Amino acid sequence: MSDVINTGHSTPTLALPSRGRGRSAQSLKTVESLVEAGLVPEASGLDAVAQKYAIAITPTIAALIDPSDPNDPIARQFVPELAELVTTPDERADPIGDLTHSPVEGIVHRYPDRVLLKAVHVCPVYCRFCFRREMVGPQGLGTLAPAAMDAAFAYIAAHEEIWEVILTGGDPLVLSPRRLSAIMERLADIAHVKVVRFHTRVPVVEPERVDSALIAALKASGKTTYLALHANHPRELTGAASGAIARLVDAGVVMLSQSVLLKGVNDDVETLAALMRGFVENRVKPYYLHHPDLAPGTSHFRIGIAEGQALVAALRGRISGLCQPTYILDIPGGHGKADIGASSIAANGDGCFSVRDFRGVEHRYPPEV
Ligand code: SF4
Repeated sequence: MSDVINTGHSTPTLALPSRGRGRSAQSLKTVESLVEAGLVPEASGLDAVAQKYAIAITPTIAALIDPSDPNDPIARQFVPELAELVTTPDERADPIGDLTHSPVEGIVHRYPDRVLLKAVHVCPVYCRFCFRREMVGPQGLGTLAPAAMDAAFAYIAAHEEIWEVILTGGDPLVLSPRRLSAIMERLADIAHVKVVRFHTRVPVVEPERVDSALIAALKASGKTTYLALHANHPRELTGAASGAIARLVDAGVVMLSQSVLLKGVNDDVETLAALMRGFVENRVKPYYLHHPDLAPGTSHFRIGIAEGQALVAALRGRISGLCQPTYILDIPGGHGKADIGASSIAANGDGCFSVRDFRGVEHRYPPEV
């Protein structure tokens, strides 16, 4: 198999920094290519990981990795590790229950007013903590065939309660502008769909892909386009990523962020604050900070929920309200998302409440007169 990512869109050759030996200008998709790029040692034993879970690192991400840092937070997200071979009893292949809420292939209908449309299960990078790691990649669920796509659009058209369609997968922005336009044209014909949201890592991991043709393909007459950008560390917001984001926002695409709280990547207040501020400075509104899902072989990324709550509470006292994400847990089994940030209010039992301020000081509400 070629180790060049094939997403139906040419990957330009990029000039990479001289760091690391033999850096490739193509996406790295095999253990051999990671060894050649100096990102993993020879005889790493990672072939067993590669047989289970897809690998892909774009030139942009490869150039961001500091191979001299054994704890590099970018490498940790994308370079495979032997720890992925350890599956704990609470982990599961479909951690958020996509399959139990899939009425037709490619559609997940979990909440009344919105559906996921999973047109493709290919990504430009494969995150080592991915919650859909059993579904994405060359051995994953693939791309929806034309008949399945017809059935998915028929389902959306037949359910008038569907106000929002969320294109995810996989990363929908690996599709060519022609295919994205075809999807948007079909959604444009469904009057009750008002909002189309894309979940993607592309502006960060392959920013050169965000050109005028791709941006035009994300828009459709009568629909509002949102784009949720997945990034987890402030170093991902490079100048090239900022340029791609600016092109999208200037074209009228509303942007939100989604991040995953990951041990060894962003589980400290300084990193999270820099990430959220970076989003806001780029006109991306912080939206969700996900507690990591119980995907197989990902326990080395998870911190405790109490620790996550403390981090989110510390953010509240430190940075602007514009920069605050909602800390979210997808309840295993497909029961949907829950806001798991620690509450700052509790009933006193006398009809009044105790409210905690950002310094941790409790106040009675309403105040005593
Ligand atoms: S881009 Fe999203 S779907 Fe693809 S591997 Fe990363 S987390 Fe999974």
